[in-house]
Amino acid sequence: MTKYEVIIIGGGPAGLTAGLYTSRAGLKSLLVERGIFGGQIVNAALVENYPGFPQGISGAELGSLMHQQAVKYGLEVITAEVAGIAQGQPYSISTTEGSFEASAIIIAAGSEYRKLGVSGEERLSGHGISYCATCDGFFFRDREVAVVGGGDTAITDALELTRHAKKVYVIHRRDQLRAGQVLQQRAFAQPKLEFIWTTVVEEILGEKSLSGLKLRNVKTGQSSILDVAGVFIAVGLMPNSRNFFNIVDLDDAGYIVTDETMATSAPGIFAAGNIRRNSARQVATAVGDGVTAAMSAFNYVQELGNGARITSP
Ligand code: NAP
Repeated sequence: MTKYEVIIIGGGPAGLTAGLYTSRAGLKSLLVERGIFGGQIVNAALVENYPGFPQGISGAELGSLMHQQAVKYGLEVITAEVAGIAQGQPYSISTTEGSFEASAIIIAAGSEYRKLGVSGEERLSGHGISYCATCDGFFFRDREVAVVGGGDTAITDALELTRHAKKVYVIHRRDQLRAGQVLQQRAFAQPKLEFIWTTVVEEILGEKSLSGLKLRNVKTGQSSILDVAGVFIAVGLMPNSRNFFNIVDLDDAGYIVTDETMATSAPGIFAAGNIRRNSARQVATAVGDGVTAAMSAFNYVQELGNGARITSP
């Protein structure tokens, strides 16, 4: 079984940054990613709040640059799904590409889209239902579509969709948006957007493809049908922590509990980015978490006495 000093699970901004730092510190490091390097940010058309890019940068480009920079310093990467971590020192990680051992582990597996959990959602996913406006907005040129949610993602998606769709409804369960002020101002000034307040989706209609949405106003109780060709669901994220519940403590929502050094309840296992409790869920904070986790992993490996190091990250 191949033995590493550090294994990083997840190749988003937190994991790639952790890998950059552990590799540059001379630790034999492996990063395991199941999908695209760059994480969820690759779906963002434009990232305007990551420092150093005053004109903004596409999420795909930012993710690709982070990947390039991490492997430049010796980080090994594989594409595989991690099934779990077995107790012991070294820890053993089982993946779809075999098992690996490491003294320290950094879990940076991020989060996935939260589902609405209503009738029709599973059946029509990919047939009129999408969770990524940047990926699928193009298919709704000159059609009417809806976005569900009131956070930054929902409003960013709704604004992105106005580039393609004839009209975009934003369906939100409250009468106030959660999204930041700049996005709110842009949204309220965009004539193609129409807000449907205090309303939830009760059912997604259609057999083979979406034909409309059954809505319910939570204040009046009144039901209605909204005739749209597509719906973009943007109701937040859920941590990808289900394979780690047996090894580290999670909070009630499934986020990994860490201290300020990114240490989890298991010695030598650290967590970084969206998967950990109290993350600000920004690229910039994920990057910061990655640095802290890498430094903590470095110190842990040092203490274990796995080879002398003369520099710190
Ligand atoms: P979020 O901030 O958690 O917002 C989720 C939205 O969905 C909220 O408006 C929430 O309503 C609503 N919601 C949740 N569950 C629902 C349900 N079952 N039915 C209907 N509505 C539901 O998630 P997010 O917008 O994906 O953002 C995640 C993080 O990424 C945030 O920290 C955000 O700031 C960050 N982000 C930043 C940017 C940026 O450009 N800076 C872009 C995207 C995301 P309530 O408001 O009533 O809770």
